[in-house]
Amino acid sequence: MNQTDVYDVAVLGAGLAGLSVADAVLERGQSCAIADPSGAGGGASGAPMMLANPAAGRRAKKTWRADACLDHLANVLNKITENKRSRIFEQNGVLRPALTEKIARDFERSLDKYEWADGWIEWIPQKEFKKRYPFFDEHFGGLHIKKAFTVRGEDFTKFFLDDLKNRGCHAISSGYTELNDTGDRWNIHLENGSQISATHVIDATGFHQLRSGKWNFLPLHPVKGQTATFHFDEPLPLHHSVSSLGYMAFMNSSPYTLTTGSTYEHNFDHLQPDDEGLSYLKGKLNRTLSGFTDRAISVDQWASVRVTVPDKKPVIGAHPHKPRLWFFGALGSKGLLMSRYLADMLIRSLFDSEIIADTVSIQRLF
Ligand SMILES: Cc1cc2nc3c(=O)[nH]c(=O)nc-3n(C[C@H](O)[C@H](O)[C@H](O)COP(=O)(O)OP(=O)(O)OC[C@H]3O[C@@H](n4cnc5c(N)ncnc54)[C@H](O)[C@@H]3O)c2cc1C
Repeated sequence: MNQTDVYDVAVLGAGLAGLSVADAVLERGQSCAIADPSGAGGGASGAPMMLANPAAGRRAKKTWRADACLDHLANVLNKITENKRSRIFEQNGVLRPALTEKIARDFERSLDKYEWADGWIEWIPQKEFKKRYPFFDEHFGGLHIKKAFTVRGEDFTKFFLDDLKNRGCHAISSGYTELNDTGDRWNIHLENGSQISATHVIDATGFHQLRSGKWNFLPLHPVKGQTATFHFDEPLPLHHSVSSLGYMAFMNSSPYTLTTGSTYEHNFDHLQPDDEGLSYLKGKLNRTLSGFTDRAISVDQWASVRVTVPDKKPVIGAHPHKPRLWFFGALGSKGLLMSRYLADMLIRSLFDSEIIADTVSIQRLF
């Protein structure tokens, strides 16, 4: 790299947002650089295991544009794992045991309330659920969301970055320190002392977006989350991941381990995992799968910060005063599901001036 490298787009941050948008830029045939001090996955996207579950929340509401979002995610996962042996994802579905009668009613209602494509989701009445999944404690039946994915976040980001590099994206293992607008392009100063230029800059730096001061007018809110990974002395008979009082991410290719998440810490004074987080997550495991708790040995803990806004929807769009500077973030707990789909929308706005859907547009927050 020398001081005169100029790109159509520079992406800051190589988490799910940054990697997705770099992918969309390359697909348009434009040149792209991506800068991140960690290489990739240094923020929330490096979670050991994550779920992409289109039936979210207490009522199993179908998430925003779930069909398109899942299609986009599936395309990326298949593309970046082609010819690779390591299994970084499974479309093994998610089980959602209904812990109260009210939740059971809401779950069952979800099937008629939203338009689910054939084979996406099944309501399993209590008796049948007990028969199929005898290891769950008290429940009133449950949902099986068959289209949900379980993904190893850290591996996903590394594979994704490798794929981008192979296709000509310039990956820089350094953070940005300063942006200067020269009138027709941005000069981007990097921590490693070098500099690149780009017509457009997309800020996808996650938690750093709150600290940089560039987006102070947005109501961004940081929420720390922790996961704990447990090892068991025999293979778990699960087959699917579980979403109940948080998530229990399971893959058939590693049947001795389960990753539980997540804490939601709105006030935190450090960014590390801690004992409090571990005992909270053990409690979740115990209340969902009590039969397994005695055999669980905690082998790993992990923590990071996801960013949200009050309506809990992602935010994409242009800076209101700084031309050619774009925001991609506030993905909350839906980064895996939505980031690749949103990336296309952002890139169509950037290159074709297409209007971004109100639900996710930065303009709804001005
Ligand atoms: C415990 C936990 C569990 C989660 N589970 C799920 C789940 O199951 N499913 C799901 O969909 N979502 C989940 N999420 C949320 C998901 O992780 C986020 O939605 C998503 O990762 C956000 O992606 P991002 O690219 O916006 O931010 P990040 O992943 O945080 O990426 C930002 C990147 O910017 C880089 N950066 C920082 N400063 C600079 C700088 N100065 N210059 C350049 N780069 C910089 C960082 O190193 C980082 O790599 C979870 C989050 C947590 C914390």
